[in-house]
Amino acid sequence: MGDGVEISMTAERKLGDRIARELFRDPDHIDDPLLDEYVWSIWRRLLQGSKQRGELSPELENTFAWAVFLGRDRTVNAFALPGGYMGVHLGLIATVSSEDELASVLAHELSHITQRHIARLISRQSNQAPMLLGAMILGALAAGSNPQAATALIAGGQAVAVQGQLNFSREMEREADRVGFSVMTGSGYAPQGFVTMFEKLLQANRFNDTGAFPYLRSHPLTTERIADMQARQQLLPTTPPVSDLTHYLLAGRARALSYLGVDAQRGLMSLAMPAAASSLQAAKPEVRAGMWYAAVLAASNQRDFRQAWAWHTQLQDATRMNASASRLTRLLAAEVALAEGKPSQALEWLGNAWNPKSRSEMLLWSQAVLASVQNTPQTSTAAPTKDAPLLVPRLQAWVATYPRDAQAWQLLSSAYHSQGKTLRAVCAEAEGFAAKFDEQGALNRYRAAQDLVKQSGQTDFIEASIIDTRVRQLQARVFELSMER
Ligand SMILES: [Zn+2]
Repeated sequence: MGDGVEISMTAERKLGDRIARELFRDPDHIDDPLLDEYVWSIWRRLLQGSKQRGELSPELENTFAWAVFLGRDRTVNAFALPGGYMGVHLGLIATVSSEDELASVLAHELSHITQRHIARLISRQSNQAPMLLGAMILGALAAGSNPQAATALIAGGQAVAVQGQLNFSREMEREADRVGFSVMTGSGYAPQGFVTMFEKLLQANRFNDTGAFPYLRSHPLTTERIADMQARQQLLPTTPPVSDLTHYLLAGRARALSYLGVDAQRGLMSLAMPAAASSLQAAKPEVRAGMWYAAVLAASNQRDFRQAWAWHTQLQDATRMNASASRLTRLLAAEVALAEGKPSQALEWLGNAWNPKSRSEMLLWSQAVLASVQNTPQTSTAAPTKDAPLLVPRLQAWVATYPRDAQAWQLLSSAYHSQGKTLRAVCAEAEGFAAKFDEQGALNRYRAAQDLVKQSGQTDFIEASIIDTRVRQLQARVFELSMER
């Protein structure tokens, strides 16, 4: 690697934070609690395994962010970014056949981070200003999923140079395979997942399918990598792959959330239609359940609720025996009921067994209670749900624990609005912006709050001084950010 000088962990983290701010605000970024929970559970397990193997030092663990971004993109891709950030396209989740396969890709990316490969790539660019470097990495990312878009982010001819310079070397790829494989198996994932994932990539490579697999462009399959893998494979016991029902449901979810167009949504529905019955019957049960899951969500998106519920019944039968799959099936029902404008049904599906530690349940419950309150104007005789008085306190407790949860802040803001507490609603909305790294947006909302205070003249002193403090903090932060550019 030449000089072998790496930039410091702190400098790498700072660069990563800059890139993360942009990705957070990217319209492709999707904050889906269920898919987030899934990817996070794998990521956390791999981090733990990596720590136990001594690949992840305490210093690196404390300095880096270890955050995962999900992108709506339907292509197969995952990418490690400076500072312990990682991006995952929904297309990857939709394409892999098991949690083990997904873990194998994430373990490979994690190893690029822990082996400081990214630090070494950045050091080669150290003559560049950090901000420009951030823009270059973002540009290379855009080029990965959409070659035409690359030039929009990076000025003209630089793009080609950047592509060449930011790619990992052959040695780095082999090292990430080797370390990733041990971290993954050491974390309790089936080694078979590494092999079958590698086969998927090989096959895409053979058909030169880099359009759907941008992952192959950033991590090319060299003959050495293939030989290494085959050698590893010979040492493995030939165990049949596990049936992974939960994975297929979440893959179906990833498919329905990434395919936004009407045609694509109808395509997902057509796979569950009577015309496709023979291929549906021929599919493995878990694959079939995944198709139903995607079809339910797509039908709900198309507002064809009759069809959505019909498929949901079949999904319920298919998931009855599996606790985590039937949880996903119940949450899906709550989601459909909410979309249909039936919040009390959604609450029934959530039941009393909801776990307030899980973000998915918490957000769905809050949405349903809020909808029931909003559906019940003062003049109506229908009563809002009995849970209504719990909404604000539960959301307040939640954001106190998870201040970066922008969706929860937004729900809290709506809850205040429904109670006529406009000032508090505006402040919660401001915090929602801040949680998404939009400090300027947050500042604007807090200034609106200051105006409200002036107009009313009867706000309590403590509330007003908190608002003033937040305005000063955000002003300072916005100034600091403008100096970094
Ligand atoms: Zn790689």
